[in-house]
Amino acid sequence: MTLGCDALVIGAGPAGLMAAEELARAGRQVLIAEAKPSPARKFLMAGKSGLNLTQDEPLAALTAEYREAAPWLAPMLADFGPDQVQDWARGLGQDVFTGSSRRVFPVAMKASPLLRAWLRRLDGMGVQLRTRWRWTGFGDGGLAFDTPAGPQVLSPAVTVLALGGASWARLGSDAAWVPWLAGQGVFVAPWQPANMGFRMDWSAHMARHFGTPVKGAALCAGNQRRRGEFVISARGLEGGGIYAVSRALRDGVPLALDLLPDLSTDQIAVRLGLARSGETLANRLRKLGLSPAAAALVQEFARPLPEGKALAAVLKALPVPHAGPRPLDEAISVAGGILAGALTDGLELRARPGVFACGEMLDWEAPTGGYLLTACLATGRWAGRAAAAHGAQLSASPGPVPGIG
Ligand SMILES: Cc1cc2nc3c(=O)[nH]c(=O)nc-3n(C[C@H](O)[C@H](O)[C@H](O)COP(=O)(O)OP(=O)(O)OC[C@H]3O[C@@H](n4cnc5c(N)ncnc54)[C@H](O)[C@@H]3O)c2cc1C
Repeated sequence: MTLGCDALVIGAGPAGLMAAEELARAGRQVLIAEAKPSPARKFLMAGKSGLNLTQDEPLAALTAEYREAAPWLAPMLADFGPDQVQDWARGLGQDVFTGSSRRVFPVAMKASPLLRAWLRRLDGMGVQLRTRWRWTGFGDGGLAFDTPAGPQVLSPAVTVLALGGASWARLGSDAAWVPWLAGQGVFVAPWQPANMGFRMDWSAHMARHFGTPVKGAALCAGNQRRRGEFVISARGLEGGGIYAVSRALRDGVPLALDLLPDLSTDQIAVRLGLARSGETLANRLRKLGLSPAAAALVQEFARPLPEGKALAAVLKALPVPHAGPRPLDEAISVAGGILAGALTDGLELRARPGVFACGEMLDWEAPTGGYLLTACLATGRWAGRAAAAHGAQLSASPGPVPGIG
């Protein structure tokens, strides 16, 4: 059965919900189709680590973090950047605070109250949410769905795709849409993991340190140097510290650890020289302030250990050979997706007028720190507004519609 529909949003993650809100605000009749039995599962998962909504920093600094995507994301981030994200959360009854490294979190430190308030607001605006509605591609006369009531085809005036990236498929973002869009002539850059852990070929000695965090080290990759915590696990190295340099490592830059970032090589050498004769190496490393897990990393990667200043140099730049990124599905986010060149300035697919796209399915990447949600919300809002304007043009003139922007 083919159903008419005014404005359709596919995907009920943060990008899709934001697009739906903008369409509804512009007076469109909005239907959100979501494949999963409930909306925004990845957003709720992000809430388990506190829900880092944005980064409280000047717009130019924030925008620069999106690197090659910064030029085309800039107008969207200028429209909905760190200040607007915080106001938006407050508007949904969620006070926010700025934690360490300028990361902004809701005081509740979880996503569920914010999501509940947002869904209530959308419901009040007349937005309809259909769950277990899985888009299966472009069918005859519209967009085809598998639904609890059987196959349906929708032929909306405008559509916003907000299908997410290609990691944590169990939360909904399975990237099944890539061939459907590619088949329409939409260019999609191959996926790569972003903000991910790395596999390690550990020796058996490391097993007793699995699950142990290493704190206070600096992770160095080329000219990048980040203080941060990471975890030694059976799967490799994981956690915020490693994510911060993961893009450089993915691109082939070797990893080195400065295990004593507050001391110079000379200072460490002097302290090593003060050790009593016959004192075990383990004891000397412990007295320098290394945790057992950090000392185990030294033994793992620098044996046979040199003495004196050469050992001090090893502690300042311990090479850590990894065996490549953990699998794509485990990554916090992804690189790749719909290329900017496949989109108009209004995030409309050039190959498919009337269809817009937003969120993590677009080809941008960013570090953790709230940059991911900020860009999802900003692009969702931008696409929703452009789709609403497109829909308005359609209603005003039955003739051909020029691309937006
Ligand atoms: C563990 C974890 C922690 C994170 N923490 C943070 C954080 O603190 N701060 C931050 O900024 N970011 C964080 N992120 C990243 C952030 O959650 C994502 O970038 C964001 O959710 C992407 O939003 P989106 O709307 O583009 O896509 P998604 O949230 O992935 O939503 C896409 C939706 O589309 C639906 N969908 C997909 N295909 C179909 C289909 N064929 N038919 C119908 N529906 C479909 C999916 O079911 C899903 O509901 C975290 C991610 C993870 C995995």
